[in-house]
Amino acid sequence: MAITQRLQKLRQKLLEEGLDSILISQPENCRYLSGFTGSGDLLISPDSAILATPFIYLEQAKREAADFEIVRMKGEPDGLVELLSAGQGIKRLGFEASLTFADYRRLAEEADKLKLQLIPTEGLVDFLRAVKEEEEVTCLIEAAELADNALEYISQEIHPGMKEKEVAWEIEKFLREKGSESTPFDIIVASGPNAALPHAKPTGRTISLGEPIIIDLGARVKGYSSDLSRTLCLGSWEENFTKIYNLVLQAQLSAIANLEAGMTGEQVDNLARAIIQREGYEGAFGHGLGHGIGLATHEQPRLGPSATNVLAENMVFTIEPAIYLSGWGGVRIEDMVIVEKGKAKTLTKVRK
Ligand code: ZN
Repeated sequence: MAITQRLQKLRQKLLEEGLDSILISQPENCRYLSGFTGSGDLLISPDSAILATPFIYLEQAKREAADFEIVRMKGEPDGLVELLSAGQGIKRLGFEASLTFADYRRLAEEADKLKLQLIPTEGLVDFLRAVKEEEEVTCLIEAAELADNALEYISQEIHPGMKEKEVAWEIEKFLREKGSESTPFDIIVASGPNAALPHAKPTGRTISLGEPIIIDLGARVKGYSSDLSRTLCLGSWEENFTKIYNLVLQAQLSAIANLEAGMTGEQVDNLARAIIQREGYEGAFGHGLGHGIGLATHEQPRLGPSATNVLAENMVFTIEPAIYLSGWGGVRIEDMVIVEKGKAKTLTKVRK
């Protein structure tokens, strides 16, 4: 049912863009439109939906993508011939501009032989994916709960003397044992000065009392990711930590409370950024406020200083302001929210 509706929406877009059909290669987009979790390409036209995949995925494709005609790619990895020849009467073929250069070159060669005009498209499926259906929200809530539980668990287990890597492994084990699929990204455990690196890798550094520890983790349920960050401190907090922590928290809570459907990603970003800048930490929050989350950990919509996308009902994204100070460390507080009745409702709920 969901697949039929998604295809319908995409076909409407094709009409608006004046395309006869579109080639979909981006893996999350393929999965979203067909249900197929292996690797392959889709060719979608007003009256046909074809999935081309090599032999190793053929059986799986038949099971997962019942709405699609399935074509075997012979010249792996370059099976475009079979796919493009299967689509009849195409003149204007859309493709995803995110294609690699090598893939584009192969596509251009085949299109040339078949006399197809190639039209690059950007974000057609990505913007469909940004608004979540009920079934998708159920998976996201489940993934958010797993993340909450993992954070709660590690808050009790973590102690001075543990290494960052050990903490990360404890979290990963917990998530997998509680039912998460392979984690959607490498878990971050960054202590002391390492917490100044927004995408730190867990190291052999030993965690001590009184320093900031950023933990960023996510679970995955039926392909859908969660993303959650908390900043902990063991023992007593130094004054600086308390001050920065409270500022980031205030920025986050304010953005969540004041967000309204219809705002752009930039406007919401500014709700938090203005608070951080007012206190003199202008250069210390160097990334966007958040990102959409779903089949990919980072997807549409974007929330950041130049994000023009408009936030709408049933979009799910993160709100994660931060302050990073080189040599000292950092604080990041991240929750997932859904836009419901025009306001933000948090999906991750573990205490801050
Ligand atoms: Zn995130």
